[in-house]
Amino acid sequence: MWNSDEIDFAEAAQSHGTLVSCMLEYQAMLADRHLNEVLLGELVDQFVHSEQRLAEAHAAVLALSRTDGLTGIANRRWFDESLAHEFARALRSKTPIGLLLLDIDCFKLFNDNYGHAAGDDCLRKVAQAVRSVVKRPPDMTARYGGEEIVCLLPDTGLDGVFRVGNAVLDAVRALDIPHRFSKATDIVTVSIGGVSIIPAQDMTPTNIIEAADSHLYQSKEHGRNRLTMPSL
Ligand code: GH3
Ligand code: MG
Ligand code: MG
Repeated sequence: MWNSDEIDFAEAAQSHGTLVSCMLEYQAMLADRHLNEVLLGELVDQFVHSEQRLAEAHAAVLALSRTDGLTGIANRRWFDESLAHEFARALRSKTPIGLLLLDIDCFKLFNDNYGHAAGDDCLRKVAQAVRSVVKRPPDMTARYGGEEIVCLLPDTGLDGVFRVGNAVLDAVRALDIPHRFSKATDIVTVSIGGVSIIPAQDMTPTNIIEAADSHLYQSKEHGRNRLTMPSL
């Protein structure tokens, strides 16, 4: 048994005090750590959020750089890149590339008589009508130049191009935009050249455009408002 004389109360009190201050320090450390965890969590949330916004902004800029400002369809640059890509793919897989090149009939007369703003509006409507028809995922509708639109139809044979081409003619006619000054009829129409080509080693993407363009020229020559293609 201890007797009270043997207990050093001063020392015991001192060690208890040390223990309590250690516990308080430890508690503060834990609270700090909790605070740090909360802060870290918030920082991670903010980081993830800003990463998402950055990715969205990047996607928006990319989409904008590929879009034609007036019509909302793909622009020429995006079309050229897509055609080159599809051409290389078709060359490897020996599959056909379908292409429709279309041009609004007597559009200069439309502008001259109804005004440039009405011309822009017409161009927008025609572009959207074409896009509504050409909707298979790998397909693309792009503004090729002024009042010319191109449809890229990967892996599409002549019969498919023929079907889409006629659907495009119908979709533009269905807009029923009056054009009293057209040499084709009394509404806005388009002339189309269509091709389907399996690329060969000695060909370039331009050859496909040229082939479609020569058929487009024939559509113009034969009265406009029609589709011309190599015979099926
Ligand atoms: P064709 O039937 O032979 O194609 O005759 P066209 O009058 O359509 O062809 P032409 O090449 O002589 O004229 C094309 C016109 O398209 C000239 C221009 O006024 C018009 N055009 C081209 N781009 C735009 C555009 O962005 N907005 C408007 N409003 N008109 C445009
Ligand atoms: Mg033209
Ligand atoms: Mg024209």
